[in-house]
Amino acid sequence: MPRNAPPPYRGGCLCGAVRYVATVPTLGARICHCATCRGAMAAPYLAQAQFPRRAVRWEGTTARWRSSERLFRHFCPRCGTRLFLEPRDAPRLGIPLATLDDPNAIQPEMHVWISEALPWGLGPDDLPRYPQGSPLPYRIAAT
Ligand SMILES: [Zn+2]
Ligand SMILES: [Zn+2]
Repeated sequence: MPRNAPPPYRGGCLCGAVRYVATVPTLGARICHCATCRGAMAAPYLAQAQFPRRAVRWEGTTARWRSSERLFRHFCPRCGTRLFLEPRDAPRLGIPLATLDDPNAIQPEMHVWISEALPWGLGPDDLPRYPQGSPLPYRIAAT
C-alpha cells in the first residue's frame, strides 16, 4: 500500500467555484498515458485516484462531457479545470491528483497505457508499467 496522507481529501478547481471532499481512502491511484486522457487534460498524462462514488461530495456546478461509452469527464464551466472522472459502469469517481489542495497527499501506484505515452512523459520512478489498462482491478470499498 502506498504511503498516503489520511482522508479526508479536499480540493477543487482553479477559480474555486467547485470544491470537493473525499472522505475515505482511495481505491487506487494511477497515471494514465492514453491519448484520450492526454487530450482531455491538455497535459502529457492524467494522474488520478478513484473513490467510492458515495464518499465524494462536491459544491458548485460542473459540466461534463462523455469521452467514451463508459466515461463522463467533468470540468468547471467557469475556469475550465478538469475535475471528476465518472465511469458509467461502476459506482466510483476519479479525482485528478493535481486538483487536491495537497497534490502530494496520494501517491500514484502504477503507470497504465504506456503504449501511448510520450517518450518524455514517463518519469524515472520504479512504479509498475502496463502497456494498456491495469491487469489489477481497483480495490473494493470497505463497507
Ligand atoms: Zn473553476
Ligand atoms: Zn486514459
